[in-house]
Amino acid sequence: MRWSIRIARVAGIEVRLHLTFLLFLAWIGFSYYQLGGATAATRGVVFLLALFGCVLLHEFGHALAARGFGIRTPDITLLPIGGVARLQRMPDNPWQELIVALAGPLVNVVIAAVLIFALGQHLQWEHLEGLNQPGIAMLAKLASVNIGLVLFNLIPAFPMDGGRVLRALLALALPYSRATHIAAGVGQALALVFGIVGLFANPMLILIAFFIFLGAQQEAALAQMKDITLGAPVSEATGTHWMRLPPHARLDDAAEALLRTSQDEFPVVDDSGRVLGVLTRDDIVAALNRRRPSAPVREFMRRDLPVVSAHEPFEEVFP
Ligand SMILES: [Zn+2]
Repeated sequence: MRWSIRIARVAGIEVRLHLTFLLFLAWIGFSYYQLGGATAATRGVVFLLALFGCVLLHEFGHALAARGFGIRTPDITLLPIGGVARLQRMPDNPWQELIVALAGPLVNVVIAAVLIFALGQHLQWEHLEGLNQPGIAMLAKLASVNIGLVLFNLIPAFPMDGGRVLRALLALALPYSRATHIAAGVGQALALVFGIVGLFANPMLILIAFFIFLGAQQEAALAQMKDITLGAPVSEATGTHWMRLPPHARLDDAAEALLRTSQDEFPVVDDSGRVLGVLTRDDIVAALNRRRPSAPVREFMRRDLPVVSAHEPFEEVFP
């Protein structure tokens, strides 16, 4: 993710901070400072850091559960709107997806339970004066925010964890694409309800509705493609009518081909049909600035290309 800095590496997973998160932190500190001076600013920032610590642990919950099924997570990025764990892929097995999706909210359940237990112990000793202490009040607030995180994440709509839980539960009985279709429909219906309620109550809900609507659409499109391509070989998804260039073609031939066709890549093919390399639009444009028009294309074509064979399954090659 661009505009993010690496702050730590835990269990082989890079923890990154998006620069907008730092701006958000500064903004929170500044608003609290205006309300109640340096003490309020410090409390505000400490609370926000504690909250995002909980969000980070939530994402680690997903990442470590996924690791149990052999799925790597290269990084987790913290944004002002929450955390994003970039899992290599989602598990195809519905039971596994269910566990991975539930592992995040489960972390917040544990945090809230530990905080509530500790607060209960403390308040028994100190009686209720304890609630006036700022530290205690902050822990109580952190416990309630964790419960809020669980409830929000379990809204049964993509891109929330609840959407994945719903899809996984449906996929136990239905084909994957059908399950996704239903889950996406439920998500979009919820988005509509949130949008309408948001118009009258809280504009924040309209934003969430928008977010959910897009999430559902994206998930449905992904699942549909997965379904269409299931079991199909690469050759069925391969374009075959390409304008080719011979290795002795010149730069001006390539430029002319670029103008004449809608192609952005040109395979360079020898007489026996062997692909020697590929010429991209960018390569041609860059070469036009530097080279003579008579320079042969084989001098600036790309040769280091990954190659797949025509009979390999599409779903394996696509990622
Ligand atoms: Zn989550």
